[in-house]
Amino acid sequence: MDYYRILGVPKNATQEQIKQAFREKAKKYHPDVNPEGGQIFKKILEAYETLSDPKKRKAYDSQNKTYSTLKEIFKEKPSDIKLDVYITLEEAYNGTERWLSYDRKVVCSTCEGEGLYDNSQFIPCKKCKGSGLVEILGIKTICFECKGKGEKLINPCPQCEGKGTVEKTENLKITIPSGTKEKVFVYKGLGNETSFGDSGDLLVKIHLKNHPFYTLKGLDLICKLSLTKEIIERGYITVYNLKGEKLKVKLPPDIQEGYILRVKGEGFKTSDGKIGDILIKIN
Ligand SMILES: [Zn+2]
Ligand SMILES: [Zn+2]
Repeated sequence: MDYYRILGVPKNATQEQIKQAFREKAKKYHPDVNPEGGQIFKKILEAYETLSDPKKRKAYDSQNKTYSTLKEIFKEKPSDIKLDVYITLEEAYNGTERWLSYDRKVVCSTCEGEGLYDNSQFIPCKKCKGSGLVEILGIKTICFECKGKGEKLINPCPQCEGKGTVEKTENLKITIPSGTKEKVFVYKGLGNETSFGDSGDLLVKIHLKNHPFYTLKGLDLICKLSLTKEIIERGYITVYNLKGEKLKVKLPPDIQEGYILRVKGEGFKTSDGKIGDILIKIN
């Protein structure tokens, strides 16, 4: 139970601030005024009795500090989340948007990462009898039951079960600019959070789907065409560029197998304006 939070004062609050906060809270929750506030009032009173007594406050602070230091030692690390997104060549060329839905750990809003709730309590760990250490084959080592804390939390925060973080589903719209090929986008701070509020990043890897007609080589779009009598007689073929425009490509009179038709400037285009060609390989 965090007495400071119960009274709504900062950890370095003066005695005057504590008194003031107590008066305000008492007015609101005193059972004479608020019949349902009895339980809360009891906690407020308990918090006030501890914090308004410098000796008790000092003891309370040092106990809390030990807990925070130990929590620091066993602090979980923020971690990155990796997602894969598959886009078509057309989407890569023109740019596109995607809604991403993913789960990540965030600080628990009920306990603000402390893992504690109103009726939380620390009891000495049975395994190590409160020392935080156990002896295995004559060697002192950290107690795994309590992770060296020497105490166990009972009645933890009901929302996060004392972990300090909860899973949350994020919905995020990302913009993939035109000219994006395989690439990793980094969204700072959108990875997993620790109970301390440090957060990892979200890494979105863009992959190109296979195209039914073209393969991308560098910036060139390559396709194959089998010559037929009709095509030769007609004298031209039609292909589509990635904008979806129909292009009429004239066949040279000497066309034959192995020939490569090049349609200039109709290939892939990077964001900085470099542009490739369409290459039609004649089979
Ligand atoms: Zn222990
Ligand atoms: Zn919580």
